[in-house]
Amino acid sequence: GAPALSLYSPSDPLTVLQADTLERSIFNSSSAWVVEFYASWCGHCIHFAPTWRALANDIQEWRPALRLGVLDCAEASSQKVCSEFGITGFPTLKVKGMDGAGIQILAHSEATLQPLRHSIITSVERHEDVWPPACPPLEPTSLAEVRGFFQANNVTYLALIFEKADSFMGREVILDMLQYENIAVRRVLSSDEEMVKKYDVATFPSAYLLTSNGSCSRIPVHLEERSFYTFFLRRLPDIVRGTSYNLTVIPDTEPRTTPTPWRVADSSKLYMADLESVLHYTLRVEVARFSDLRGERLTALKRYVSVLAKYFPARPSVRNVLRNLNRWLRGVKERDLPYSAVEAVPNARLMNRTIWVGCQGSQSQFRGYPCSLWLLFHLLTVQATLPKGQNASPLEVLSAMREYVRFFFGCRDCAEHFEGMAAESMDKVKSRDEAVVWLWSRHNRVNARIAGTTSEDPKFPKLQWPPPSMCPACHKKFNGQQVWDEGAVLSFFKAHFSPSNIYLDYIP
Ligand code: FAD
Repeated sequence: GAPALSLYSPSDPLTVLQADTLERSIFNSSSAWVVEFYASWCGHCIHFAPTWRALANDIQEWRPALRLGVLDCAEASSQKVCSEFGITGFPTLKVKGMDGAGIQILAHSEATLQPLRHSIITSVERHEDVWPPACPPLEPTSLAEVRGFFQANNVTYLALIFEKADSFMGREVILDMLQYENIAVRRVLSSDEEMVKKYDVATFPSAYLLTSNGSCSRIPVHLEERSFYTFFLRRLPDIVRGTSYNLTVIPDTEPRTTPTPWRVADSSKLYMADLESVLHYTLRVEVARFSDLRGERLTALKRYVSVLAKYFPARPSVRNVLRNLNRWLRGVKERDLPYSAVEAVPNARLMNRTIWVGCQGSQSQFRGYPCSLWLLFHLLTVQATLPKGQNASPLEVLSAMREYVRFFFGCRDCAEHFEGMAAESMDKVKSRDEAVVWLWSRHNRVNARIAGTTSEDPKFPKLQWPPPSMCPACHKKFNGQQVWDEGAVLSFFKAHFSPSNIYLDYIP
């Protein structure tokens, strides 16, 4: 069977959350939390995971002031909580305060540690509700506070980091030293003339060490950098890590996903289970993330359902669901529609969970939903070449796909890339056959771009498709080089993406 792996493991210094532990962990906590909401099927989340893990290692000593968590929104059990949290794209980072209101930062999969640290600090500071009790003060100190510091605080050392207002180093060192006893760290702004004059500071950043016996000296470091300050301070005499901080991470729960039995599939066939799974996932999970559908997003939904009703080679019961939904949506004249109204249209005949067969991955984070979304739209472009599509625009299906991806597809970086390709050349498509070829060649471009990356299932390497073993006639030689025979590709597509090539195995 396919082992159920998630992108994170309990040995990472972060909390692997589940739908039912999320609220308990976060709202009863004295820490600030930053949670990455991801979808294990989303390639960019897979690429982002090493960065998030590296960040968790980098700031593990900031616990308990600040904790990192992860939640997999692709798990059926998480879908409700992810939509309550307003998560519509992946990966999304949310900084949670004590009041439940969150600040959202959309993570770019290329994000690096330093900007992530900075935006986390900024978001925590911007919180207007109660300051997390476990979090030390991060605001700049003043001459008045420093004067009375050793009377008010029972510590031997006070480190002052003088820096410009836009520098994060002081706050990072404060958090780095959080678990150490007998020392406090404060930042001082270069604009604080009193302090700058009193300590005769000319370099920003630079750091000074004050002791309770009245001494004061500049901290000698090779570079005025976070790690150099931290290294120096942690090695001062009488500085020890407090015993109240337990660094071994006890995960709230072990990941609870159950392994899926391996389903044997023939790669030359399509499976209705994949196609109906994608109907369920798009209409009931991705669209459902938007509790209010309005404007262009509502139009995108209408177009998507309309091409499904027209071209999806459905079993009769499913065809009725799609046609009813389409008819109902066409009758909607309001500009705003609550998702609950869409949900209320009878749809019980749709599959109520996902069953991946041709799109099953060797591990749970591979293939699945994005694989089937491609298949669905290839199938629809091919079905639109039949006589029932003859009066429609050649762009009917491609535009519906473009809008679906733009307004609903959870992998936001994928959507951006796809929109880039569409903006570049989709309007050059002049016939329904050209629409089939356009989508084929753009999908191959995506395959080429992401082949060999960490989101590739090692058991299903990304190939230029169809390979010669599937369609020998699609490949020819020109000037000694392999080139495509587009006419043969089109014929192959019309046979491959036809109702007679769809197997009904594994449908419940
Ligand atoms: P997929 O590429 O999903 O293909 C599914 C199946 O379609 C294959 O098994 C094969 O049978 C068939 N197939 C393969 N190539 C073609 C073709 N050219 N024409 C017709 N059929 C074909 N992932 C990223 O990491 N970065 C991205 O930017 C990105 N953008 C995406 C944009 C869209 C619109 C979609 C739907 C997905 C995107 N993905 C992206 C996901 C990625 O393309 C794959 O879907 C995912 O990695 C799963 O791969 P897979 O091996 O199942 O094959």
